[in-house]
Amino acid sequence: MMPIASERPAKPPVTVRAAAQGWLQQLRIRPHTVINIVFAMLIASFVLSLTRYWTNTLEPRLYSTAETQASILAQSQATGLVEAIEHGDPERMRQRLFDLLQEALIVKDPATGGRIVLGLSLQIDYDAVRAAPGTLDLKDGMRVCERCFHAAIPLIGQGGLLLGVADFVLSPSYFDTLAKDMRSKLMAESSLAMILMFVVWITMLAMFHRLHRAKLAIEASDRAKTRFMANVTHELRTPLNAILGYTQLYRQDTALMARHGQGIDTIDRSAEHLLLMINDILDFSRMGETRLALHPREVPLAGFLSTLVEMTEVRARLKGIQVERRFQPELPAALVVDDKRLRQVLLNLLGNAVKFTEQGKVLFEVGRLETRDSERVRLRFSVRDSGIGIGRAELENIFIPFQQLDNAITRAEGSGLGLTISQQLVRLMGSELKVESQPGVGSHFWFDVSLPALDASPIETTSAEAPALPQSEADMALPPQAWRDALAEQAQRHNVLAVRKLLADIENDPQWASFVAHVQPFVRGYRFRQLGDWLASLSDARSEDAKPEQRTDNPGTRSSL
Ligand code: ADP
Repeated sequence: MMPIASERPAKPPVTVRAAAQGWLQQLRIRPHTVINIVFAMLIASFVLSLTRYWTNTLEPRLYSTAETQASILAQSQATGLVEAIEHGDPERMRQRLFDLLQEALIVKDPATGGRIVLGLSLQIDYDAVRAAPGTLDLKDGMRVCERCFHAAIPLIGQGGLLLGVADFVLSPSYFDTLAKDMRSKLMAESSLAMILMFVVWITMLAMFHRLHRAKLAIEASDRAKTRFMANVTHELRTPLNAILGYTQLYRQDTALMARHGQGIDTIDRSAEHLLLMINDILDFSRMGETRLALHPREVPLAGFLSTLVEMTEVRARLKGIQVERRFQPELPAALVVDDKRLRQVLLNLLGNAVKFTEQGKVLFEVGRLETRDSERVRLRFSVRDSGIGIGRAELENIFIPFQQLDNAITRAEGSGLGLTISQQLVRLMGSELKVESQPGVGSHFWFDVSLPALDASPIETTSAEAPALPQSEADMALPPQAWRDALAEQAQRHNVLAVRKLLADIENDPQWASFVAHVQPFVRGYRFRQLGDWLASLSDARSEDAKPEQRTDNPGTRSSL
């Protein structure tokens, strides 16, 4: 059992930023509109809170300060009046009070130059004051004034005797001056803050604009690069297929192989390797343009899995490594899945397992997991090896495009794209590719997928009960599954020469005549994709007993590993 060093689920990078970006895209709001809205709201709320602070807090406080000042002034004027009433000559008391009243009315505010006391009226208690009733009730300048301060100051004589009341009407000019000063100070400070905010706003917009332009330029160049990559790799595939086709033809020529076998093998392996890398780059360029999509279809599981094992074993045998398979008997017989893409992922994992293992074994497990959904099956695909393993720090990097860990094996082979593409494909299947590994001990890659199960009966029982073929194909004798897989794979590669070669091997045998007749129109019409689909739709079971007379070197076993 493999010791678990670290588990690194290849989590999708769903960050708050990514979520916000997606949300903005959905709402079709451009990011700089967001900046404008945020700053406009910031400035509006700043102005609003400043205004509220002024009207609710500062202005009432200033008013009450000015009111206190005014009543202190009125108090001091009242002291003179009390003095005159208590100690003045009773004969001249009225005149004296009149003079004091006039004096009070001309007191000026040094700040504004305006009068402070606007009106004054005396109400005397003639029981306490020795004077004829009504003679001392003087008043001048009394008025109704909304913003003026009103102060009723009791005139209290010695011994606490109430002599009367002096009503003052006081000017609000002190408050006005105070408020004006305070307001202009506040305005000055807040405008500084506003200017700073505007500067930040404009700077952010300018920076954003530049960033946006740079981003557009990078995206355009990235698109051009990807398109170029896609075009070039696409163009490269055609000559490579021709090379591979010819190497396969030469392989059939025993005399030629005796003389140049090693060279032909080298050309073949190199072209195969190049084709794999090109296919990876093509897939990767599709990933960038989100053109990587799944095309699920009905797939018999037994044939699918055994082809994978066969393909892996060829390479493993060369290295003296054993490939062990453990497929649970409860696996369904058929699934709906994009078999090409699932095969691509598993071949990459199995290929890496063999590539990075020098001794020991590779264990390929497929098991069924519990699920509450009766119409779907949940399968775990797992590949373990006893190879060189991956360090904890390096696990971070293996899913990043073009990343290869520094070791003699990776320096020699690989594009560093396999795991990136595999992870993307597994995510398209709604799962996550996970890995645990320990250097010197081995690695374990696995993922769980939930797929519609067409035939939920166990894999072993149904392998003999294939679904019926369409009526027109029902009586057709089929070459064995492995041969058909090889044909399907070459068809998928559009390898015309290899497809023709495979057909040539069986076309003289009358038992496959109807099969060959059915395939020829696809080949003549270059409809290789349809040919692949048709081959995949055929049942495995029907061909189990039959064997073609001339079994060719199975090209499927040479590919991808
Ligand atoms: P490559 O084409 O180089 O194999 P991959 O994306 O498939 O690219 O793998 C990236 C890197 O991850 C490899 O170069 C290797 O360093 C490391 N790696 C992948 N699988 C294994 C494994 N089973 N054991 C050890 N290292 C592995």
